[in-house]
Amino acid sequence: MGRGIKPDFQFRAVTDFDSVWLRNNGFKGVLLDMDNTLTPWKTPAPSAAVLAWRKELRAGGVKACIVSNSRQPVKVARVAAELEMPYIHRAGKPRRRGFDAGQEALELPREEILVVGDQIFTDVAGGNLARMRTCLICPISRQEFLGTKFLRLLERLAGRAVRFQAD
Ligand SMILES: [Mg+2]
Repeated sequence: MGRGIKPDFQFRAVTDFDSVWLRNNGFKGVLLDMDNTLTPWKTPAPSAAVLAWRKELRAGGVKACIVSNSRQPVKVARVAAELEMPYIHRAGKPRRRGFDAGQEALELPREEILVVGDQIFTDVAGGNLARMRTCLICPISRQEFLGTKFLRLLERLAGRAVRFQAD
């Protein structure tokens, strides 16, 4: 299991892994960040590729739930409805509360859950704190809140040594 701000896995995007990879690694469920993980921040709608990816997970028997720090319940609920999965909003990541609520929604032991997100200090650090395995992906959009940009700066200062594959 990853520790601190170190993820167990890294991918370019959620669509770069599927239910087969998840099950081969012992995962039966995923807790998914929303902004810049499932949807671009500015246009909060999942792409056709992400919709297809979600369908593949379901066909492969992998459960999914959104765990978002967003304070816009309508926005989160709309994305969750499109992706046909439950959601936790105002999750308070990196604190454990939101991840524990997500685990309850998935009804799985934490060893069988992968936390997926684009931010080290909320998604990865929080998933590790919640004693789940973690996966860092590259953010969908560069159009982010100033606060997020500040976090990215901290990540670089923290010596983030992450190489993402180009398309
Ligand atoms: Mg995010």
